[in-house]
Amino acid sequence: MITVMKFGGTSVGSAEGFRRAAEIVSGGEGSKVVVVSAMSGVTNYLISFLDSGESNADEVIASLRQKHSGAAQDVLSEALLEEYLGVLDIRLQALKELLEDTEVRSDPYFNDNISSQGERLSAVTMSYVLREAGLDSVPLCSEEAGIHAVGCPGAGFADLDLTSRDLSYTLRPLLENGKVPVITGFYGKNGNGKPMTFGRGGSDYSAAVIAHAIDADFLEIWTDVDGFMTADPRIVDGAKTIDEMNFSEAAELAYFGAKVLHPRTIEPVRRKHIPVRVKNSFNPRGEGTIIHHLRAPQDELLRSVAVKTDLSIITVNSSEIAYRPRMVASIIDRIGDANVIVYAISTSLSTIAFLIHNNDVKDVLRNLNRLEGDEIERIDVKSNMCLICAVGDNLLDRCGASAEIFSKVRDANANVELISEGASTVSLNFVVSMDRATAVVRALHEGFIGDLQ
Ligand code: ADP
Ligand code: ASP
Ligand code: MG
Repeated sequence: MITVMKFGGTSVGSAEGFRRAAEIVSGGEGSKVVVVSAMSGVTNYLISFLDSGESNADEVIASLRQKHSGAAQDVLSEALLEEYLGVLDIRLQALKELLEDTEVRSDPYFNDNISSQGERLSAVTMSYVLREAGLDSVPLCSEEAGIHAVGCPGAGFADLDLTSRDLSYTLRPLLENGKVPVITGFYGKNGNGKPMTFGRGGSDYSAAVIAHAIDADFLEIWTDVDGFMTADPRIVDGAKTIDEMNFSEAAELAYFGAKVLHPRTIEPVRRKHIPVRVKNSFNPRGEGTIIHHLRAPQDELLRSVAVKTDLSIITVNSSEIAYRPRMVASIIDRIGDANVIVYAISTSLSTIAFLIHNNDVKDVLRNLNRLEGDEIERIDVKSNMCLICAVGDNLLDRCGASAEIFSKVRDANANVELISEGASTVSLNFVVSMDRATAVVRALHEGFIGDLQ
């Protein structure tokens, strides 16, 4: 039996976190592959360093050294600590050289390289902590392991075939020899061997890709809450852990804002029917959530609510656009050229409206303005919107479900700006302004989920 176990930033955020993670890894049956995020705060720190345009490499190195060696000191025995510090310093020296090399800054993969450095450091730290716990562990960065990425810098995704091919060479022999590999989450290497990250929170996805590649029996996501919950517990006080979910529900919720899983996590494991357990590293005895193929249908209208924030509605106005399919096609083409995700689309006789991230508005407008002719009469932009994703069993087939849901939206004093229904059988998605997001999520939770056990 092989289990891929991913530990998030807070789960490896301190000496105590590393120690707990090592106990969890030591406790389970069979072979394990561990995937780690950066220690909490490290990726944000690296990204803010990049954003600030500063060049004080010494300060960055000192701060990262302090954070990692500080945690390791509390866990490792003297001999292992000395060896660990040697390896840590080699990695930090490489990072220092990278930060001081002004020529590489123009490399389109420079930001991905820097922002993924936290994972390289935490993987080494975790591996030594596992050795301290008596396991025969080896750290591997994504390049060494053979995680292949395609796509764009900052928004890559895995080449599953190539990754499967390479991981069977790199990981299988290690597992057969009783070793516990610790692999960096968050990024893979592109065709030129350059690091390409999978977007924020990407370590969940890395772990799913690895589970897929080695035909793991289980994927475990160890995080800081008791499992996949009925809503973000930071928004809804009474959010509850969901015992069991199917892949579709989890995938929709993750895609539409449930941060507990990176949006692309489910697809690789769904393909191979690998069950996912979401568990709390601070409460390992808790049951957590199991996500798998089948689940007995539930009577409740809603199972969970997610919210995707910082979105904009772009509305293209043109008379009788509905009768000009080629124009619709070229509008969609232009959006495609900007390589942005469209979260919802809605059309009328003379308008087409689509929902994108606030950050993508500029690129999309630039591309739309390149449309030839004077067919577009006007483009309107409404920013600071959010998409509410309400998930329930067979929601689409339940007569009156939308009416019930929207009555709660009205109670929350929110105006529905755009609706996307019918595309998925398990979810109803709609847009409200950001300032009503919390009220709407709470109203839906209280109305349909609050009393469930
Ligand atoms: P990690 O560092 O372990 O990857 P994240 O911070 O990325 O952890 O994800 C866990 C957080 O996701 C939780 O602390 C919680 O605030 C948030 N979250 C949002 N929606 C949900 C949900 N439906 N269930 C559980 N947690 C959620
Ligand atoms: N460390 C990365 C991030 O903060 C990846 C992850 O945590 O999954 O986005
Ligand atoms: Mg995460």
